[in-house]
Amino acid sequence: PADDADFDLAAAGPQAVTNGSGEVTPAYVGYDAYRARGGYALAAAVASGQRSAEEVIKALSDSGLRGLGGAGFPAGRKWGIVRNYPAPRLMAVNIDEGEPGTFKDRTYLERDPHRFLEGVLIAAQVVGISTCYLYLRDEYHGGRAVLEREIARLQADPPCALPHIELRRGAGAYICGEESAMIESIEGKRGEPRMRPPYIAEIGLFGRPTLEHNFETLYWVRDIVERGAAWFSSFGLNGRKGLRSFSVSGRVKSPGVKLAPAGITLKELVDTYCGGMLDGHTLYAYLPGGASGGILPARLADVPLDFDTLQPHGCFIGSAAIIVLSDQDRARDAALNVMRFFEHESCGQCTPCRVGTGKAAQLMQAPQWDHATLEDLNQVMSDASICGLGQAAPNPVRCVQTYFAHEVS
Ligand code: SF4
Repeated sequence: PADDADFDLAAAGPQAVTNGSGEVTPAYVGYDAYRARGGYALAAAVASGQRSAEEVIKALSDSGLRGLGGAGFPAGRKWGIVRNYPAPRLMAVNIDEGEPGTFKDRTYLERDPHRFLEGVLIAAQVVGISTCYLYLRDEYHGGRAVLEREIARLQADPPCALPHIELRRGAGAYICGEESAMIESIEGKRGEPRMRPPYIAEIGLFGRPTLEHNFETLYWVRDIVERGAAWFSSFGLNGRKGLRSFSVSGRVKSPGVKLAPAGITLKELVDTYCGGMLDGHTLYAYLPGGASGGILPARLADVPLDFDTLQPHGCFIGSAAIIVLSDQDRARDAALNVMRFFEHESCGQCTPCRVGTGKAAQLMQAPQWDHATLEDLNQVMSDASICGLGQAAPNPVRCVQTYFAHEVS
């Protein structure tokens, strides 16, 4: 907002710092600099009881903060649920960032790791967590070096009592971004999603109540509680509230992580934050939610981008990975690419997903699609798959059939 002189939305965008090569960026905010700017004062206040757990949960709830890994579950409500289960309670943080087109967590991690770690400490204090497992994408060598160094600094000079923190490395499986598969992986097993119920809030890691969060959700906790719920919810466009970190890639002049108001449209995002389309390219289509979120045509570039707004169009925003296609691309190629990805990444636990994704990928190579057979596959995958991978796999097929039928008939 204009009256918030301390927070400049444009300047807050993280794109200026990441070096994009996977190496440690020298410009990240280290422990001393973070503390010098008031960092960890809130965590210490929560630990000492100056700020109550109820007050923190209320701030998160009032702000409208939702899980930013893709599922969008309200963060405050999740904290309230887990803290009501008996101790010991554990936390699992997803920094696996495997959704194609998503790179926001890495960018923030390499820029301001303690803002995230303070969110971890606050969550641990409020929910009563004894051990936090940070599940980091193995390819994030730079991020791992930053985390190892900065966690050691934090432990050497703790601002309050710390939970035990374990840094775990993922092994490149997309499915381990699904919370229960991540938990299986942390426990040392194959990363296969669990049937629910029971939900992991009640029976999660090692059978204990578990608070699971995406990196970015915790990254915003300090700012929301310090600045107040009204600050966060004062952002937003087209009737939506809050801030979103869009990972934008594809045919735009300036791709990258764009911190923008929730509810911004694709057209506004490309024109205002990305410098417009690349020269010689006209907007044709876009993927609003990475591989799983479907594909929309250019004529729907004015739909607000947020949780819940894309469902009427057969899509969802997920972790806000926006992939922009131009008149030099075909939606069917993008859909086939995505289906091959799902085939490769299916954990194989349930037949509709394991077999259906491969069969769909074969059928999608035909110049003219066999719509009846594809729809049969779509139906069984979405009805009978255990987890979101198999359930969402039909999305790109259905989007091509709905919006780009001229490409496949
Ligand atoms: Fe594994 Fe696919 Fe079943 Fe999910 S839907 S549990 S990825 S086989």
